[in-house]
Amino acid sequence: MRREPAHSADDSASFSEGGRGRVTRRAFIGLCAATAACAAVGGAGKAFAGQGDLLRPPGGQDEALLHAACLKCDRCRSVCPTGCVSVATVDDGFLQARTPKLNFHRGYCDFCGKCQEVCATGALGAFDPACDKIGVAVVQRDRCLAYTLGCENCKDSCAFGALTFDGDRRPVIDAQLCNGCGACECACTALVYGTFSGGTRRGIVVESVSAYEAIGSTLVDGEGR
Ligand code: SF4
Ligand code: SF4
Ligand code: SF4
Repeated sequence: MRREPAHSADDSASFSEGGRGRVTRRAFIGLCAATAACAAVGGAGKAFAGQGDLLRPPGGQDEALLHAACLKCDRCRSVCPTGCVSVATVDDGFLQARTPKLNFHRGYCDFCGKCQEVCATGALGAFDPACDKIGVAVVQRDRCLAYTLGCENCKDSCAFGALTFDGDRRPVIDAQLCNGCGACECACTALVYGTFSGGTRRGIVVESVSAYEAIGSTLVDGEGR
């Protein structure tokens, strides 16, 4: 049987009565202290809310709705057959912690719909791969092996006709057709075999729609990113 830790009466005082998810005085004070610490180094806003949009499972692209409805129950991650659903941490921002995010180094989204089916709150709503977007794939010129050694490992990965190779045998993304499924990033071997300490990007990275719009291209040099 699970044992509850002993608390003083003051420590266990709750800001909402009983039940799961209540905020204890200790937790609240801890959160305030963490936020104050972030403010002290000038990064409170970004540390609290996160640096930008995360890639969400299909139907979770409305950030306001997702944050309002998501119970952080982990069911979407647990049913994903490809393993591409991951969980955000405080490194993604305090508000994002334990919400679902996609990691295309582990798998890609084949739009099976299982995560949407198990989401009981509607945080993951409808999604049409033909016209909606998880994100947009962006080729990283500094990482893509087609720019150096030669590589075509991602060539046949796209089921949506968004990835072709040009006359120099380098990948080109059609942002209109790309829905951000992540199959190309998953297939990329640039960080699988050509990895180096601290590297996190592959030759293709799916960016959020807002990040892609800020970049304004499906090809970046990648330096400093
Ligand atoms: S299944 Fe729905 S409510 Fe549960 S963590 Fe996933 S998005 Fe949130
Ligand atoms: S639709 Fe299927 S493959 Fe895509 S994230 Fe949801 S469970 Fe995973
Ligand atoms: S993320 Fe890659 S594989 Fe998926 S639709 Fe876009 S270009 Fe095609």
